[in-house]
Amino acid sequence: MKLINRRALLLALGLVAATVRPRRAVAAEAPRTLLDENEAAAKKIGYIANSRKVDPKANPGFKRSHTCATCAYIDFGTARQRGCSLVPGRLVEAGGWCKLWKLKGTK
Ligand code: SF4
Repeated sequence: MKLINRRALLLALGLVAATVRPRRAVAAEAPRTLLDENEAAAKKIGYIANSRKVDPKANPGFKRSHTCATCAYIDFGTARQRGCSLVPGRLVEAGGWCKLWKLKGTK
């Protein structure tokens, strides 16, 4: 019985390691440039570099806690500028926001 539990644990650890590795590989890619909210890619998703400038009347679902830092699509970490999987190769401001914001953990 203990052998089966040990195998299950090793299998689970292997699965975790397999899912963590690709994120490290992404970090080693070419440097990414900061997304400017005036670019076409930013306008397409309604990106605003400073979420405090979001017009709540024009975006009724927006709440102050809805920033890139709390979005499911931003890279893990604590850096002020991080990658967003919806704008590959670019960085977004952790304090930014866009119309595709989705709560972290709900992806
Ligand atoms: S998808 Fe999320 S992380 Fe990416 S720009 Fe929009 S709010 Fe920010």
